[in-house]
Amino acid sequence: MSENTTNNWKDLKEIVLEKEEEKNYSSSKFQELENIVKSFLAKQDTDSTLKSLTLGALNLWSSDVHYDNSEHDVVVRFRIDGVLVDIFQLEKKHYKLFLERLKHSSNLKLNITNVPQDGKYSLDFSESKIDVRVSTLPTPYWENMVCRILDAKKAIIDFEDLWFFWTTKRMLEKAINKKNGLILVTWPTWSWKTTTLYTILSKLNTRDKKIITLEDPIEYQLKWIIQSEVNEKNGYSFEMWLKALLRQDPDIIMMWEIRDAATLEIATQASLTWHLVLSTLHTKSASDTLDRLINMWLKPYILASALDTIVAQRLVRKICPACKVEKEKSPEEVQLIKEMMKEIGMNSIPAENIKLYHGTGCEHCNNSWYKGRLWIYEIISLNNSIRNLIREWANAQEIIAEWRKLDMITMKEDGILKAIRWYTTIQEVLKVI
Ligand SMILES: [Zn+2]
Repeated sequence: MSENTTNNWKDLKEIVLEKEEEKNYSSSKFQELENIVKSFLAKQDTDSTLKSLTLGALNLWSSDVHYDNSEHDVVVRFRIDGVLVDIFQLEKKHYKLFLERLKHSSNLKLNITNVPQDGKYSLDFSESKIDVRVSTLPTPYWENMVCRILDAKKAIIDFEDLWFFWTTKRMLEKAINKKNGLILVTWPTWSWKTTTLYTILSKLNTRDKKIITLEDPIEYQLKWIIQSEVNEKNGYSFEMWLKALLRQDPDIIMMWEIRDAATLEIATQASLTWHLVLSTLHTKSASDTLDRLINMWLKPYILASALDTIVAQRLVRKICPACKVEKEKSPEEVQLIKEMMKEIGMNSIPAENIKLYHGTGCEHCNNSWYKGRLWIYEIISLNNSIRNLIREWANAQEIIAEWRKLDMITMKEDGILKAIRWYTTIQEVLKVI
């Protein structure tokens, strides 16, 4: 290892482990990583290649590393703030060598190349451990690989850092401090599913309560929480696992997802028998969730008593602080701000006087204008009038109309509020809702 490479390698570790808040996405970092990776590959040192790629991905705040095959080469791409970015290309011969090392580390079968496989590898550093989930997919040109980085430091954050405005925060705090009730966190895609749930669980995690989780798979170890992983291979179904879990006398249950009517029935029964139940559902919005739950199970009278709160959320990118400047407002943006202010009764300042900011591109954000992400939310907390509407088989529109009377804000309004506070842009909000 040359002295130069050793220094870079040391820098990389220091940046990852000690200076997370100062992450830099610049293309010079991509070049630096490419040089390190290729110098290890030239020496057939696949162990160091794997380490440097994992650390490099963490350093660039990526959630996933993609190895995408084509006929002549392999492109290494990182998902940064939800967007795929090409980092560099690998030669086929180097990729083959690395692929075998990665499969070996992840306990995948080396001789199997014609069916998809899933596995996991871990890297240990003095102060932390990074788990990486690996999945392979056969293609005509070797196997494609995607590695998801499971960084516990990113999965559990402070409750105050979940980007709730005080009204939504107060509502959720009230719900999670109840003795019982079903709380559902919903979103349309898988990504970042864990952070909100794990952060809520760690807020609730005190020695006087027993918290049990049922996960598929367990991604992060949580201190004092009893975590179990669904294993349906030996004929023990998800439903049977849930029933066994309830016999362990928990106060709080976190089940990975409401899969079907049977899971929903157990979740509602657990809620009605004095458990706080947290779970997730794949739906587009809080109102869609109500529709889906009623259609899934057709027992609205039970749902009305058991369900407490629905939290729908999306991620939007934050404006890069290094190249943030005030922007000219478009008439559409002024109109959207006006509508939002009218809906939430905000009338202290005319919409025309509100300033908007955006990024202009710089090396800190790799000219993407954005750096980092935040959540936007829509929360429905059931009160008596909403519960009565559900019992009477009201449709989602009628329930939403009732919900709007409670001064609640929609996801779009929450996003526009965050744009007029210069965290993100209206354009970014409209893209995700
Ligand atoms: Zn920038």
